[in-house]
Amino acid sequence: MKGKLEPSERQKLVEEGKNLKERLVTLEEDLLNLTDELQQEAQCVPNMTHPDVPVGGEDCSSIRKMVGKASEFSFSVKDHVQLGKDLNIFDFDAAAEVSGSKFYYLKNEAVMLEMGLINWAVSEVMKRGFTPLITPEIVRSSVVEKCGFQPRGTNTQVYSIEGSDQCLIGTAEIPVGGIHMDSIIPESSLPLKYVAFSHCFRTEAGAAGAATRGLYRVHQFSKVEMFILCRPEESNSFHEELIEIEEELFSSLGLHFKYASDFISSGFKFSFDVLTIVFPIHFPLAGLMTSSNFHRTIDMATQDLGAPAYRKFDVEAWMPGLGRYGEISSASNCTDYQSRRLGIRYRPESSIPPKKGKGSSTPTRFVHTLNATACAVPRMIICLLENYQQEDGSVVIPEPLRRFMGGLEIITPKI
Ligand code: AMP
Repeated sequence: MKGKLEPSERQKLVEEGKNLKERLVTLEEDLLNLTDELQQEAQCVPNMTHPDVPVGGEDCSSIRKMVGKASEFSFSVKDHVQLGKDLNIFDFDAAAEVSGSKFYYLKNEAVMLEMGLINWAVSEVMKRGFTPLITPEIVRSSVVEKCGFQPRGTNTQVYSIEGSDQCLIGTAEIPVGGIHMDSIIPESSLPLKYVAFSHCFRTEAGAAGAATRGLYRVHQFSKVEMFILCRPEESNSFHEELIEIEEELFSSLGLHFKYASDFISSGFKFSFDVLTIVFPIHFPLAGLMTSSNFHRTIDMATQDLGAPAYRKFDVEAWMPGLGRYGEISSASNCTDYQSRRLGIRYRPESSIPPKKGKGSSTPTRFVHTLNATACAVPRMIICLLENYQQEDGSVVIPEPLRRFMGGLEIITPKI
């Protein structure tokens, strides 16, 4: 019969088919491995940087603004660890036994202080038109990666959950970024502004020494984070808005302002001495006028930006007990670095052609994402305790926080 093969030829083709099948399995495995390797490599490619970002390491970061004067004390100041002990509001020893080093229990008024700070920060940012969120604190490793963090490796800051493809979040930026993953947002909905509360978990690999004392660098902490998705042409101005909000928040807790260096967004250059804006703070408790806080905003240099940030401004506050500045917040413009990986697009309305009865083929664009700290609770507790300590060991609560703390005005030492 025509087309019928000789048994030997048929056998040969069957063998070939088998070999091809086996080869396909190997090639598919190779493809998966190579795709994974490619993604790992692509992960190491950082975002572009804003042309004004100082080039170099930490020493090259420039001061953008100085605010206030360092607190002056007529008595010998304590650091927050000693204050916390005398006020009976922390327990590091029990936490070390139960969880390990760099964990802590908050007790008594410190619990009210943490909850007060969270409520205060969320309410203040909501007033400015942000939608509040409480996020999941366990997310898929792929989302962590798409946001520009490394969930694997020896030097990772991320806690991965063994036997799963999930991680604990290091910041709410990750689950908030993930909310709109793989979607096209109508342009009319932009900007989307969120204020999210979450706990943050960090391995703090490589961190050691006095700089990590007490609450300064811990494995688990509470944070209120702002996050914006916007049109690309608006991200620089939203970056400025986020910094303004941060500065308003810190000022309302008793900070004084002084512009330093270049104030880039305004297009003017203010010299350090030219402009001083003072926010007077009145404390109703007679005789308990507290010293002012002191902070500065830093334009972080290229090597300190991390992978996703195009530009990053850190705020550092003076911590009198620790005797140095400490970073209390960070505001980053990540442009389209995260949105490309997360697949977050919008369809520009202006370019939709007025076609009758036909679906639009308008090209979509990636949104820009920005994130900024509204309140990193442990560092804020350090600032408040160390700056508002009194000679008798008590600590005054700044006025704006009191209504979030059941009216508490002062924390006094326990005998
Ligand atoms: P980041 O998300 O790394 O920009 O951090 C935001 C803010 O969280 C920082 O400015 C710090 O105030 C605070 N922070 C970061 N890491 C820690 C930590 N391990 N312990 C306590 N606070 C932290």
